[in-house]
Amino acid sequence: MKIRHFNALQDNYMYLITSDKSNECAVVDPAEPAELVKTIKNEGLKLTTILTTHHHYDHAGGNSKMLEMMGAEKDQIQVVGGDKSLQALTHPVKDNEKLQIGELEVTCLSTPCHTAGHVCYVVSDGREQAVFTGDTLFIGGCGKFFEGTAAQMQSSLQKLASLDPKTLVYCGHEYTKKNLEFAATVEPDNQDLKSKQANLKSVTIPSTIGDELKFNPFMRTNQANVQAFTGKKDPVECMGELRERKNNF
Ligand SMILES: [Zn+2]
Repeated sequence: MKIRHFNALQDNYMYLITSDKSNECAVVDPAEPAELVKTIKNEGLKLTTILTTHHHYDHAGGNSKMLEMMGAEKDQIQVVGGDKSLQALTHPVKDNEKLQIGELEVTCLSTPCHTAGHVCYVVSDGREQAVFTGDTLFIGGCGKFFEGTAAQMQSSLQKLASLDPKTLVYCGHEYTKKNLEFAATVEPDNQDLKSKQANLKSVTIPSTIGDELKFNPFMRTNQANVQAFTGKKDPVECMGELRERKNNF
């Protein structure tokens, strides 16, 4: 499979996922769809699926426009998501539901907390696997708890943590630099974090699940260092305290 990112709005990432074996493709969170539509048309791709991570306008706000811009093809495009209120939704999904894009298999993971209906999408071509994490998991951080609790974020991130460590992570925003600055206050002696910070480029996607487990404090609430920083031994309390500190960072 081939995964390309496109910039939208301030610091959002949209993604185009294409199959190697068919001309079918999917997009993730097409908030500003013009460039995506241009690429799809130029390359003669067949868009079958719009994957929406959550209802916030900077992720779901371009769904109707994308369909409109696809013209006559729009009736063959399914709009997927976990929140009934999503713009132009045609295909509500449940946890662990599977979808197909050409030979690519998509697994929908329910990851509530940032929003109640947030979904992450695991896409696999049998050799390589990627996860589109929206505003649940960022590189070095996680989303704010707008519609959920620390316990929900803990269980959502643990669900992602259980994926194959080689799984590529494509998140919804370029927040990495600031996230890592906060992470360095949590674990100033974390060598993996130091080398990540030293080699940072302007576009930081993709990461991997294995790397996030090494330096993302929100993925490390079971680690003594992170628990010591927050003064909380319980991973859920540690998660809540970390988010509080990050909100005020
Ligand atoms: Zn959001």
